[in-house]
Amino acid sequence: MDQESLRLLIRPKIQDGRLPHDGIKRVWSSPSDGETCDACDTVLSKDQLVMEGVTLDLGRRPLQLHVRCFQVWDHERRAISHVTEPTISSGFSFKDRATLIAQNDLSSVAREALEFQGGELTSHFEATLTKQVAEELLAKCTELGLWVGAMALRAELMRLK
Ligand SMILES: [Zn+2]
Repeated sequence: MDQESLRLLIRPKIQDGRLPHDGIKRVWSSPSDGETCDACDTVLSKDQLVMEGVTLDLGRRPLQLHVRCFQVWDHERRAISHVTEPTISSGFSFKDRATLIAQNDLSSVAREALEFQGGELTSHFEATLTKQVAEELLAKCTELGLWVGAMALRAELMRLK
């Protein structure tokens, strides 16, 4: 299957939730044992590597993908997050989080809220996020050009008001 066909197959799956949009906690690869790829629905041959990912969604079994499908999935989910209004869980990337945590002038409450985002339940971040913290993080995201994070925070602020 070529790259474009894969893209057309994977994108709707991310949009309707058959493939996760975000919240992959851990990823590893191992030799395939004849698993079926969650992206292209074909069986992996034994000489291929399977990429497995544990999601933050606890009810979900680990994701199993071809290496190439994983790359397409990763690319597509990022592309989608630029055009749809993400929620704080789906839109706030771990990369943005890491960048923010690295800032020295962050308040301790904001830091604490961010630490929660890396925990078992991303929803805990929403639960601990106050308006004041969200505004502080939004200002930081804007300053640093973290637009996906900023969009997620803006959406969250609407909810908090
Ligand atoms: Zn595949």
